[in-house]
Amino acid sequence: MGCRLYRPDRVRGAELFHARPDRLRRAPVSSASAPSTARRAVAPAEKSAPQKAMEKLGLKRDIDLALHLPLRWEDETRVVPIAAAHEGQVAQVEGVVDSAQVELRGRRQLVLRLRDGSGSLTLRFLHFYASQQKAWAVGTRLRVRGEVRLGFFGREMVHPACKAVDEGAPLPESLTPVYPTSASLPQAYLRKAIAAALQRAPLQELLPPGVLPAGLPTLREALQRLHQPPPGSAAEALEDRGHPAWQRLKAEELLAQQLSQWQARRERAALRAPPLQRAPDGLHDRLLAALPFVLTSAQGRVVEEIAADLARGQPMHRLLQGDVGSGKTVVAALAAAITIGAGWQCALMAPTELLAEQHFRKLVQWLEPLGVQTAWLTGSRKGRARRDGVARIADGQAQLVVGTHAVIQDDVQFARLGLAIVDEQHRFGVEQRLALRRKLGQGEAGRPEPHLLMMSATPIPRTLAMAYYADLQLSTIDELPPGRTPVVTKLFADDKRERVVQRVREEVARGRQVYWVCPLVEESEHVDLRNATETHQRLTEALPGHAVGLLHGRMAPAEKSAVMDDFAAGRMALLVATTVIEVGVDVPAASLMVIEHAERFGLSQLHQLRGRVGRGAVASVCVLLYATPLSAAGKERLRAMAETQDGFEIARRDLDIRGPGEFMGARQSGAPLLRFADPATDHALLAWAQQTAPRLLEHHPAAARAHVERWHGAGAEFLKA
Ligand code: ADP
Ligand code: MG
Repeated sequence: MGCRLYRPDRVRGAELFHARPDRLRRAPVSSASAPSTARRAVAPAEKSAPQKAMEKLGLKRDIDLALHLPLRWEDETRVVPIAAAHEGQVAQVEGVVDSAQVELRGRRQLVLRLRDGSGSLTLRFLHFYASQQKAWAVGTRLRVRGEVRLGFFGREMVHPACKAVDEGAPLPESLTPVYPTSASLPQAYLRKAIAAALQRAPLQELLPPGVLPAGLPTLREALQRLHQPPPGSAAEALEDRGHPAWQRLKAEELLAQQLSQWQARRERAALRAPPLQRAPDGLHDRLLAALPFVLTSAQGRVVEEIAADLARGQPMHRLLQGDVGSGKTVVAALAAAITIGAGWQCALMAPTELLAEQHFRKLVQWLEPLGVQTAWLTGSRKGRARRDGVARIADGQAQLVVGTHAVIQDDVQFARLGLAIVDEQHRFGVEQRLALRRKLGQGEAGRPEPHLLMMSATPIPRTLAMAYYADLQLSTIDELPPGRTPVVTKLFADDKRERVVQRVREEVARGRQVYWVCPLVEESEHVDLRNATETHQRLTEALPGHAVGLLHGRMAPAEKSAVMDDFAAGRMALLVATTVIEVGVDVPAASLMVIEHAERFGLSQLHQLRGRVGRGAVASVCVLLYATPLSAAGKERLRAMAETQDGFEIARRDLDIRGPGEFMGARQSGAPLLRFADPATDHALLAWAQQTAPRLLEHHPAAARAHVERWHGAGAEFLKA
């Protein structure tokens, strides 16, 4: 997976980087508090808070700043007479304060009256500092900008941007850009820093003539246009991403991304991996013969794709995607069998202990009878057991190692690691993925690299896959094992809860098993837990004579697996759970799932959850309980769930609802995000970049390198992660 400077996970943590202007913190135009310099941090002296904030956003080099583009623009190039500032309009006016008072109307507020030759206007401040009150005293000339509203006493502006000026003070010569920023980075500071960087940044054309699509401005022109649009430019025209200036940037960005993917691909092609061949009647064949079912044709196809990769002397870099329940585990087992059969070790990692344990059981059940030695490694396995495991891995005795990210800790050294399999790879943090890469690439010179197989149940729509994963081979299981009956999805408003409980009663009376998923409370694990515990208690009372279990993230691993055991073995009728069951849990006898507050879940998460039922032959039902009123997006998500069960279709709709940035962000926290281009709509530019990248690398390698360096800079290292 690659990663670029703009990782939404990191930035979200660092306050905000939304493309949504409504969420943008709006810094006042007043430059009173803005530092006067925006020099680069040359001195090793303490970095200021805004400097640190800039670095956090990845704004380190001049070029990074130059490529940090506005979300929108404000027109401060004109001042209109107060009489001409109409209600509902955003306007800039200038006048003299002719009254200033602190009034008590419900709350303390500062009320100014601003007058010019044409009329007067009220300015209202619900929050204000004493210093502002002083600076805006009667007689002061103010230039203010804000939305004109009709208040109780006529036209007014509430919290306008406000600046004391001298008469005749010059107006800006270009529209004022509003940049994405964070709370500790004032807009005015960022503006100055960017304007200065734009002067210094090396913006010469790097690509040979004729490479870029025809009719686009130069990079300098495009950036100038977007950072400092001349007066009279319509802000709306600039906000339209079809504008040639935007097209230029999108083309460059897509090209940089394709180039780095191609580069990574070439570097990988130069590496050596052990060629892992299937011997006739070897472990792979024996496992296949021993399985209690026949592979679906899709499974058969992807196993062949993987086998062909493994047999080559270059490291495999493949993503296996298949909907929930499509049977990826057995494909992983067969890949492991090829590896072990060829005399190498295989490691399988899962993001949670629960999931790792399920894998372990399945694989042990399949492979131990064939004589495979296994080891189990997780964070909670400590002391002697861990030391023994680590020793057996180091001397090569353990042929198959299953666990959580404990498998890639420093003290774990494989004797002969041939294949690493990562399940639900997007759920691992970026740090863990980097650690994995280091682990894989740690061999001394001359020692071969292991192959890498990643698995995911949340498919990526094809357009996105093409844009984001030029360096990744894709295998797709597009068929479910036979004998599954589709899950019927029903939507119920919260007030129908009693009916749903009745339905649960009937189900367990017939000897069926039920999941009850508790709402997701993002802010607080604590509240999550309380919800789950209360629900557990209520349902226990509602179902006398039946075992009702509780599963949540705070439980110790041993407790969790005891509960899962009871449920899997059918000793428990109802399992109340938080989303810990979302990933991979496989209990074929469960036939009903109730999801409370379904409107709080994301679409792909709902799909994952629902995938826990419908795994057996019994017709299954998924009930989505929702609280009213539903938001528009919430409605769309629930409708999509009711209408389709196809993971690819769900992913497509999810993409429609959320847009590619958030979609990829949620899915692949380390994915190379595109800031400007949108692969779902910029088809022509994407196709152009895909064709151009390999040719440029071939014929103009220096230009290609310079271009990637310009766009990715220090972040380029991440691209290999
Ligand atoms: P996922 O792709 O979600 O990881 P699993 O590997 O957990 O799916 O498989 C789901 C269930 O389907 C398991 O119980 C598995 O044993 C079973 N299964 C897998 N492949 C087949 C098949 N070809 N025929 C019948 N059952 C299968
Ligand atoms: Mg799975």
